[in-house]
Amino acid sequence: MNIGLFGGTFDPIHRGHIALAQAAREQCGLHKIYFVPANVPPHKLGQPLSPFIHRFTMLVLAIAEEKSFIPSLLEAELEDGAARKGVPRKPNYTIDTVRRLRESLRPSDRLFLLIGIDAFDDIAKWHEPEALFRECEFVVAGRPGYSLADVANALPEKLRPRAEVTKPFVKQPAKGDLVLPGVTIHLLGDLKQPASATAIREAAAKGKPLGRFVDAPVAEYIRKMGLYK
Ligand code: ATP
Repeated sequence: MNIGLFGGTFDPIHRGHIALAQAAREQCGLHKIYFVPANVPPHKLGQPLSPFIHRFTMLVLAIAEEKSFIPSLLEAELEDGAARKGVPRKPNYTIDTVRRLRESLRPSDRLFLLIGIDAFDDIAKWHEPEALFRECEFVVAGRPGYSLADVANALPEKLRPRAEVTKPFVKQPAKGDLVLPGVTIHLLGDLKQPASATAIREAAAKGKPLGRFVDAPVAEYIRKMGLYK
């Protein structure tokens, strides 16, 4: 089976996330996609973040109609255990989540990591980035103006092709498949879904309608729970 793993803060989940997962499912023939809200995203340590339970509930509401989209608690257990023992909260590293998910899969299952290009830009700084490319194929959603060279140059140094190789990529849009030694990346192109969680939180704080960014059940949940005020 082809299995997708889509991690994020999801504070809140929005149409950009759903569009990414739908496009990945189509382009890569994914049978299931696990949506994994991060409990403590390493790159957002110290930033205000809604409690996990709210982010998880909104995610469940947003993907309720999609049979192949599965809400995942893979990163929730970590905080739970840590909190009980009084240990400080540790960040969730994607490579640990990938390894935990792998334990429940068959060796023949292919694992695809879904990610937006803005997050992919920092991939070289993630924990054990080379291991992530060994364990997973990547599915990257683009933004206008990104070229294949931007994608290749974001790779961890050990996997990054030499400048002579990437030179012709500069004129090529970030679309199709990029296959290099030790690296397989499926590029979704620009999904034309400019929603962002930051914009939603700002709109909610001002009491503005959220229907442009999220479906009614999520907007209603934000209103009922008074989130982002
Ligand atoms: P914030 O505005 O708080 O930074 P966000 O909207 O980027 O949040 P995240 O939960 O941080 O949401 O993102 C999870 C993943 O979804 C990341 O890989 C990100 O690049 C991707 N993503 C977010 N918004 C979009 C979008 N509109 N189109 C495509 N991918 C997106």
